[in-house]
Amino acid sequence: MILFLDFDGVLHPLNREDGALSRLPQLEITLRKFNEIDIVISSAWRQEYSLTQLRGYFSDDIQRRIIDVTPVLDHLDNRYLRQAEIDLWLRNAGREYEGWIALDDSEWLFPPGCRNLILVDPEVGFDEAVEDALHRKLTR
Ligand SMILES: [Mg+2]
Repeated sequence: MILFLDFDGVLHPLNREDGALSRLPQLEITLRKFNEIDIVISSAWRQEYSLTQLRGYFSDDIQRRIIDVTPVLDHLDNRYLRQAEIDLWLRNAGREYEGWIALDDSEWLFPPGCRNLILVDPEVGFDEAVEDALHRKLTR
């Protein structure tokens, strides 16, 4: 199982009222309940920061599970950009038949009705409702 992780609107509300990455501790608590999940960063932050820098925002035990970032594609060529980047990553990694989930607040970056997407409210970020949705997808 692979979790493709967005940052803005997920790890903090877009207004960053409690600072950047304010929801990350709660996400880490959830991830520790599901140790089989690998994490791949799909956030635009991957264009500003290296994988090593991105890992540095996470706790040590979670850092080890962050295996990569998705490739950056051109939005002009890809109607559903983040889905296209995820698909390419899965193919490149030879993991296209594996289960995956995207935690993201940008519905338009995925095809309508995308079953892999857990849509996060960008005004709230990761919270108990998102955690519940993740639990349901991972334990069904
Ligand atoms: Mg976002």
